Amino acid sequence: MSDRIFLSILTGSFSTPCADNPTVAMIEAAYRHHEIDARYINCDVKPDNLADAVRGAKAMEWVGFNCSLPHKVAVIEYLDALSDAAKIIGAVNCVTIRDGRLTGDNTDGKGFLASLKGVTDPRGKRVLLLGAGGAARAIAVELGLAGTAHITVANRDPAKGEIIAALVRDNTKSDATAIPWKGAVEVPGDVDIVINATSVGLGDKDAIPEIALDSLKKGHIVADVIPNPPRTHLLREAKARGCTPLDGLGMLVNQGVIGVELWLGKTLDAAVMKRALQDIFGAAD
Ligand code: NDP
Repeated sequence: MSDRIFLSILTGSFSTPCADNPTVAMIEAAYRHHEIDARYINCDVKPDNLADAVRGAKAMEWVGFNCSLPHKVAVIEYLDALSDAAKIIGAVNCVTIRDGRLTGDNTDGKGFLASLKGVTDPRGKRVLLLGAGGAARAIAVELGLAGTAHITVANRDPAKGEIIAALVRDNTKSDATAIPWKGAVEVPGDVDIVINATSVGLGDKDAIPEIALDSLKKGHIVADVIPNPPRTHLLREAKARGCTPLDGLGMLVNQGVIGVELWLGKTLDAAVMKRALQDIFGAAD
């Protein structure tokens, strides 16, 4: 008999479509770097198969999995517990399996926050948040929990923006208001951080959210959730105006770091993960 162990730790992701999700490349690069005998398996799971996929992960003793669109809300009914943030956000993208119990968390906002903290402390800051989808919701809640002073949510459909503003006001100490996004949105004079949490710019280096570019001032931090391409049109304009740009790769990398900390209790090297993404998407600067 050999002393070698032929059983890898299993992690992965359930979503559909998923062929363009690069998380597997990023996390497996870090597993290899740290010589961790674990796999991250990217699984195409259709909505009708989600219950079976979750049962399968539990049966095969996976230690955890991400779930992305369209499962972030649907997965909740198969879980035993939720983190406080996932409860407020109402969506789960990271599940930890321990002793047969499944706990749901949401790392979208946490990943963004970890990336933001690399350039500023959000406590006491005023934020303009563009968009009111799933990413905006998670980011707004985490910013509120991290002690931002005020969040202005701008969205084409202001009712969706108001739902997020109310979520922040009701569950955190931060204040928040929603404004309708009609024409080029002006960055309010007292804002410190501008965040594009819309899908504008995804896969299109020329697309830019409709914003009054002259209202971007030196000293603003301008963050984009778009990971591909990392150097979005908005970030290029922000940099040209002396703002600090923050790309969407950092959010993606930090989500991976946080997920693996939850699953394995190990902190992966973020630089290794970022390089793996840059090999795929190109560098941001
Ligand atoms: P959703 O579909 O839930 O939300 C999309 C948002 O974008 C909505 O608020 C929508 O506004 C807005 N929007 C779309 N087109 C326009 C436009 N032309 N002008 C103004 N607003 C627009 O998507 P998600 O929130 O899940 O994802 C948003 C982006 O975040 C995606 O591109 C995704 O790739 C990225 N993302 C990045 C992550 C990372 O780790 N870097 C993690 C998660 C997401 P309306 O409500 O008016 O339709």
